[in-house]
Amino acid sequence: MHEFSVMESVVAGVLEQTRERGDLLSIEAVTLEIGELTFLGHEQLRFGFQVLTEKEPLLKGARLDIVKKKARVQCPACGYKGGMDYVEEEAYHLALPIFSCPTCGDVVEIVEGKECMITNIRVVVDDGEEQGERGREDAGEGTVEHGGRRGRGDAHVHEEVT
Ligand SMILES: [Zn+2]
Repeated sequence: MHEFSVMESVVAGVLEQTRERGDLLSIEAVTLEIGELTFLGHEQLRFGFQVLTEKEPLLKGARLDIVKKKARVQCPACGYKGGMDYVEEEAYHLALPIFSCPTCGDVVEIVEGKECMITNIRVVVDDGEEQGERGREDAGEGTVEHGGRRGRGDAHVHEEVT
């Protein structure tokens, strides 16, 4: 199930982003923005979220808010920018997006609609401690472990971190 693996990385991302917070009591809600062109089933996402958060003390009982994001396209031929056209598939109760320009019929480029992003994490913090945004760095994608403690081969290369 594709949705389940997507949700696994979402839950991992939430935990990663909140790991630095020592005053965190629990995570109350997670907002996920999902482009309609991901074709992810929201019910399956919710199910995956529920199953996965059961195992995480911080996330247990957290709410999942899904914000659906409309697709936006642009046409390289005529410059059209905007929403997509859809064709209704009555038999499957589906509205399938058409990847051609509503104005000129050329193939459009997708600008928005394929994203799956954590846009908000609502947390419950310990009131006894001072609250603030300390240590809240983006620990998402592309995090580089500086210093290379586990030297692999080039043990003499020193990385300058400024
Ligand atoms: Zn066009």
